[in-house]
Amino acid sequence: MADRLARALAHQGTLRVLAAVTTDLVEEARRRHETAPTATAALGRALTGALLLAATIKRDERLSLEFSGDGPLRGVLVDATPEGDVRGFVMRPATHLPPRRGKLDVGGALGRGVLCVMRVPLAGVGRLYRSVVPLASGEIGGDLAEYLQSSEQTPAAVGVGVYVDGDGRVVAAGGYLVQGLPGATQDALDAVADRVERAATPSQLVRDGLGPVDILHAVAGEDVSLLEEREVQFRCRCSRERVDAAILAMGRAEIAAVLESERRAEATCEFCGTRYVVGENELRGLLAGVARN
Ligand code: ZN
Repeated sequence: MADRLARALAHQGTLRVLAAVTTDLVEEARRRHETAPTATAALGRALTGALLLAATIKRDERLSLEFSGDGPLRGVLVDATPEGDVRGFVMRPATHLPPRRGKLDVGGALGRGVLCVMRVPLAGVGRLYRSVVPLASGEIGGDLAEYLQSSEQTPAAVGVGVYVDGDGRVVAAGGYLVQGLPGATQDALDAVADRVERAATPSQLVRDGLGPVDILHAVAGEDVSLLEEREVQFRCRCSRERVDAAILAMGRAEIAAVLESERRAEATCEFCGTRYVVGENELRGLLAGVARN
């Protein structure tokens, strides 16, 4: 079944609840970046968290999360659109630590650091929003909840999880986000906090076969009104055209130098690992284009 995200309101519209199953896209990210299990968990949690947060923002923005720490992983960078496209990478994909309390030690891999959240206008017009907060635990979910609480002044719970098998493959991944909206009563917030406390971990919920709507109910009860359910996927925005544009931006002398020494140019997209090779003839074509300008 394809990965999906569901969006709903609960408690008479005073709570926003989102849930996602992201197993396939996290496995795709693992294959693309050849991440070791701890790095896979960090990347998968961040990809899932970005999709959840992106589903709460305006349609003409994309959301970027950058976790930076002093641990062996160094950092995770992901971005997602409200339409459900997400991409991302970790700085050190080979990072793997011994599990802590039976879980992949993402907090240990990230260490102490900061989370930078950005909302970037898609069309290049409008205001860029940027907020930097200290990492709470480096476990991703708790960090996102802290960010929502400190930056947006709303109580929130975020659970994201990834389960990998003995071969390092992603067997289950998913998560949820619950956020208090204006008018949320303390009783409603307490009730959800209690449910979240008692619920199984996100990856266990997915392993148990729950879909996003089931997960909504698991964390928010039966009284939720579903707004939308849609597919989500790993999708990068890189393209051959963008690579050509980047080469053109190098300028005439630089392109000529590359032609002289390498006879071709290579670029690998760090977000998705796609490798682009621009051969001699194409480089000459680009050079001719620069000459005309
Ligand atoms: Zn790419």
